[in-house]
Amino acid sequence: MATVRANCADCGDVEMSIRQVQVEVCRSTDLSTYSFLCPKCRLRASKAAAPHVVQTLLAAGATLVYWEMPAELWEVKSGPAITHDDLLAFHYDLDEEGWLQRSLSRQRAA
Ligand SMILES: [Zn+2]
Repeated sequence: MATVRANCADCGDVEMSIRQVQVEVCRSTDLSTYSFLCPKCRLRASKAAAPHVVQTLLAAGATLVYWEMPAELWEVKSGPAITHDDLLAFHYDLDEEGWLQRSLSRQRAA
């Protein structure tokens, strides 16, 4: 099994088994990244991956994961943009009992 060297932003160069490396390919953008759990700090690191890096990692045995951008990104947005005041009001609303029922009532009335 191949051993790979990668760079963690906090720990610098680290080595791991290729099985600890995951290649992520976005079907929506055709952009790729690879990620790994740093063996020193245990935080996940993610890096952009050019096509030749993807091919090399996959040939060595890295796991491949496909994903897509959320469909909501392509929805047509209408109405006014949410403001900081809207977010603050929503935050306070969540602190009170019955927030879901009140929110649904407002949506039905609109
Ligand atoms: Zn690290």
